[in-house]
Amino acid sequence: MNLNSRLKKIIDASDNIVFFGGAGVSTESGIPDFRSFDGLYNEKYKYPPETMLSRSFFMQQTEEFFKFYREKMLHPTARPNKAHIALAELEANGKLKAIITQNVDGLHTEAGSKNVIELHGSALRNLCMKCKECYPVEKIINSDGVPLCHCGGIIKPDVVLYEESLDPYVMVSAADAIYEADVLIVGGTSLNVYPAAGMITGYRGKKLVLINKSETSYDHRAKLIIRESIGETLESALR
Ligand code: ZN
Repeated sequence: MNLNSRLKKIIDASDNIVFFGGAGVSTESGIPDFRSFDGLYNEKYKYPPETMLSRSFFMQQTEEFFKFYREKMLHPTARPNKAHIALAELEANGKLKAIITQNVDGLHTEAGSKNVIELHGSALRNLCMKCKECYPVEKIINSDGVPLCHCGGIIKPDVVLYEESLDPYVMVSAADAIYEADVLIVGGTSLNVYPAAGMITGYRGKKLVLINKSETSYDHRAKLIIRESIGETLESALR
């Protein structure tokens, strides 16, 4: 039996699947993983992306932060790909219980998924630091320099920056979903970014599926490892 047929068999037999995804899920929508382009960015920017996306950089060089953020982190023309669509279908069919994502692009929700746990927040939500008013992403895209609220406060994207902690409520929801899962499918992440990646250790089941083009730190625990495109793989598992 080939790998895709084995995945299909695992999916067909379960109604308690949880998907945990990383940047690789969105690269198929044309959103690059900023961690893999350090060299490229350094040609244009004075600092590595991890610095420019940190809390202290945001506070100290807010205008420079937004310049980088608008250019590299916002992808308004990106659309859900086969992976997002297949996962939404699995949820609609009652088979998938939750999607836990490290991405901030909102594409799972756009594809129709309902229970999406966004570990690192969402670029689609932007909050005034003073009065907490919420703004859509267009407010950031269509402003110059530092985007300001009508109250004068700075509008900050609702994404977790470096040096910031993950929302404890979101962490608990994700940990619960993983703990309760029968099948855990991990896709598009090499599981190197903590603390998110460490959450996988809470999985008690015996059906861990890894879909990633390169090795991950959990390969030894996986029942099934597929090194192909996530979109193609998940789509073929639904046929
Ligand atoms: Zn305000």
